[in-house]
Amino acid sequence: MESNSKFCTQCGKAVSTEAQYCSECGTPIAGSRAEAERKQALKDYEDMMSENRRMWVMFLMIIYAIPAIIVGVYFVVNAAQFTDILFQNSDFIAWALTYDVTPAMTESMFNYLGYLLIASGACVAIATLCVFKRRYWLVAVVLTLIGSLLFCGSIFGVLIGLMVTWMIYSMRDSFIDGSIQE
Ligand SMILES: [Zn+2]
Repeated sequence: MESNSKFCTQCGKAVSTEAQYCSECGTPIAGSRAEAERKQALKDYEDMMSENRRMWVMFLMIIYAIPAIIVGVYFVVNAAQFTDILFQNSDFIAWALTYDVTPAMTESMFNYLGYLLIASGACVAIATLCVFKRRYWLVAVVLTLIGSLLFCGSIFGVLIGLMVTWMIYSMRDSFIDGSIQE
């Protein structure tokens, strides 16, 4: 075998050390410029995909966090008024009498829901900032998890929150610090 040849890692054919690609199967030759370029292109593609995913996650988080805080504040501010409206409805009054629900209880329920939504939205908003800055990965994961569990809208909403939590968890590599303990 000639000393100025090496072998294709794919098909085993002997190729010139100058060759960029195997003449038999077209695989870039190990150590060649063509191989380096292909690796770089693959890495660029992976970086782009992970950046796209980060953008999607932030988008989902923002369209949750801002309305959650706004609706939460709305509930807290209008708790008394909502209660008055409910207690003008004869069906509701009948229901309330059946279950011993007082106007004070109803008002505190609106307050409670409002504070839950505000807390949930605030957790997700802070986590969004972490994802945006690509810092405090663990904080982002934990706050998104708490934000998801505090969500009192629907089980479906909680499941989406848990999915986003998992996405952030699996995005650890794209965070600058990976973990706060390090
Ligand atoms: Zn080959």
